Amino acid sequence: MHYVSTRGQAPDLGFEDAMLAGLARDGGLYVPGVVPQMSAGDIAALAGLPYEEVAFRVMRPFVDLPDEVFQDLIAKAYGGFGHAARAPLVQLGSGHFLLELFHGPTLAFKDFAMQLIGQLFQEAMARKGERITIVGATSGDTGSAAIEAFRGLDAVDVFILFPHGRVSEVQRRQMTTPSEANVHALAVDGDFDDCQAAVKAMFNDFDFRDSVGLTAVNSINWARVLAQVVYYFSSAVALGAPHRSVSFTVPTGNFGDIFAGYIAKKMGLPIDRLVVATNRNDILHRTLATGRHMKEGVAPTISPSMDIQVSSNFERALFEAYGRDGGAVRQLMAELGEGGFDVSQGALETLREHYDSGRADEAETAATIRAIHAATGETLCPHSAVGVKVAQEHLHADTPMITLATAHPAKFPDAVESATGSRPPLPNRMADLYDRPERMTRVANALGDIQSLMRERISQ
Ligand SMILES: *Cc1c(COP(=O)(O)O)cnc(C)c1O
Repeated sequence: MHYVSTRGQAPDLGFEDAMLAGLARDGGLYVPGVVPQMSAGDIAALAGLPYEEVAFRVMRPFVDLPDEVFQDLIAKAYGGFGHAARAPLVQLGSGHFLLELFHGPTLAFKDFAMQLIGQLFQEAMARKGERITIVGATSGDTGSAAIEAFRGLDAVDVFILFPHGRVSEVQRRQMTTPSEANVHALAVDGDFDDCQAAVKAMFNDFDFRDSVGLTAVNSINWARVLAQVVYYFSSAVALGAPHRSVSFTVPTGNFGDIFAGYIAKKMGLPIDRLVVATNRNDILHRTLATGRHMKEGVAPTISPSMDIQVSSNFERALFEAYGRDGGAVRQLMAELGEGGFDVSQGALETLREHYDSGRADEAETAATIRAIHAATGETLCPHSAVGVKVAQEHLHADTPMITLATAHPAKFPDAVESATGSRPPLPNRMADLYDRPERMTRVANALGDIQSLMRERISQ
């Protein structure tokens, strides 16, 4: 399997090199050269299989690894989930289902991708006899997903920079309680922008970058998108695919999760509509409604993981909509740097063949949490509530709708409590989070100090 850049000027790479590179050298994102097909028979045969086996069959054609090795990595990736089904479906109403993607170690759907990517990186590094250093800045959630993915892996050190005193207690504890020696939670005396600036500066310090094998695992990594394709198959098959079509509504920020649905559709899964659900930060909804893709400031919401101004994975959808023309994408991205662009009429029509969209404001999000709780007993996190609200506007009698529930309500206890009146408890397996010992290193907001600390830790 070979991967091509959305900007058309970087060399094609195999799966492993595309994964290790993350961003292509021309600034583009990697996508499969040709999307492999699954026949109706292949899809029907997924019915009733364990999640791990579905994952193996769906992802195998994209990955260049021996079958037994890949199966073993998948087993390790999902073994720590708190639900035997990994991604269980629950019914919300007539023709409307919720896909619970929050049973992983950090209670959010990013675990599906991060847990697998941790195993894939470890296997690649061990085989090459090399080590890498994962670094990331976090305002809360991404850091804990990365730490959970890489903790205890012996070819990898993981350093997460977070602003001291400015993350929630649950978020901090998720980063500071893992006791493995390769996990390094650094509390920086600064804000989130300072942490991000430090990470960026490290990548631009080529001596440092090469000497520690610095690597990022951000949301544009192809391997992360790939891992998310699987649950579109497992859930659609549970509701009768390939013999009937289903639609999906996806709470969307960086467009990675919903683009995985598009890949599932291209592989042959009968998906009718893919509905983009946004909060007030609605650049994607506006783009699909009007054809204008213009940046605006970010407004903070109760669904913070979707508070974005630029949706990085949307570039992959544009590449498809422009007939895989890398030159056209380069032009659009240059215009985006200046504020925004207009999608061509032809490309807009292509996008609308696959995607619908809608948005929910803060009051609608809270009202949806309350109404679903009262009607079904299911407690939604604010992101999932944005999805449910938009899905309700796109229900069709003959096609089941599956809304992706992207985080556990206990990750956003304040917003949920103010909507329902009751505070969602952490799942049992995490109930002792507040009693576990914490371990973190406080460091000045100075690049030199952070780099010396990292060098020192890696050499131990
Ligand atoms: C990251 C995230 C999203 C948005 O996912 P994208 O792939 O960026 O579209 C939605 N909900 C939660 C809880 C998230 O953490």
